[in-house]
Amino acid sequence: LEPKDEFEHKTLAMDVMRPRRSDPPLSVLTQSGMSVEQVEAVIADTSYSGFPVVVSQESPRLVGFVLRRDLVISIDSARLRQEGIVGASQVLFTEPTLTQPHGGPPSLNLRSIMDLSPLAITDQTPMDITVDIFRKLGLRQCLVTQNGRLLGIITKKDILKHMAQMTNRDPESILFN
Ligand code: ADP
Repeated sequence: LEPKDEFEHKTLAMDVMRPRRSDPPLSVLTQSGMSVEQVEAVIADTSYSGFPVVVSQESPRLVGFVLRRDLVISIDSARLRQEGIVGASQVLFTEPTLTQPHGGPPSLNLRSIMDLSPLAITDQTPMDITVDIFRKLGLRQCLVTQNGRLLGIITKKDILKHMAQMTNRDPESILFN
């Protein structure tokens, strides 16, 4: 991504982030309370490259970000090799504790595959600054928050598409020039 003069200060992160108002809500995982089966359903029902992890549905504070491929590999391998891991096992992204929640199958802790400090910007961040951040940090995606609540996500492709729209250019030509 090259810095683009086309971005005037009036375009903000909230204008480019997904989901749009008409889209289904952001697909997130919670740091506790979801079963292996439920996480597998999220993976099967979507094709996103990654999922933000939040405290809970009621309190959508960002805890981390997990890549789809790491989730798939870890769950498949745990189901095969880790004693007691079944569909009903709880998936945890929290600090491992010594005490297992009593009753139910052992839980699967996936904290080690989570990015603990994914980059997040506020929804009011001007897009020219956002593009700079993407370029300088070599990001694939970045999360968007408002007062600490997770609102959405912007991928590199979202930015390229947006830039193409603003300049009436083919996204491919921006990607590959
Ligand atoms: P790319 O933009 O490179 O195709 P993805 O497949 O991850 O990457 O994302 C496809 C679209 O879905 C993008 O517009 C992105 O903003 C959005 N998106 C990415 N992750 C999520 C998610 N967890 N929940 C909802 N939308 C997402």
